[in-house]
Amino acid sequence: MARSDPAWRVYRQRSRVAMLGLLGLPAVTAISIGIRLAGVESMAPFDVLAIVWCLWWGWVAFRAARVPCPRCGVPFLANQGPWERHCENCGLALYADL
Ligand SMILES: [Zn+2]
Repeated sequence: MARSDPAWRVYRQRSRVAMLGLLGLPAVTAISIGIRLAGVESMAPFDVLAIVWCLWWGWVAFRAARVPCPRCGVPFLANQGPWERHCENCGLALYADL
């Protein structure tokens, strides 16, 4: 395993940002519930923030899913099952040495 391998740098960066962004989902949900329970009448500013967060996270997750395999160039996460950690095209394992 070569997590520090420069060939995997882009994948590592994008997947980390996507995972950190995903952590925002419980926060957005909790804030939404809190605001509604507090009886705030206008949700417009929060709604805009939630929509912007959803769009941002969708873009970040899309980019993470499209990172090319360092060996064959096909998107590494394309056509993968949720628990598989290898390229479906060439079989390169995640963070494997090239
Ligand atoms: Zn590949």
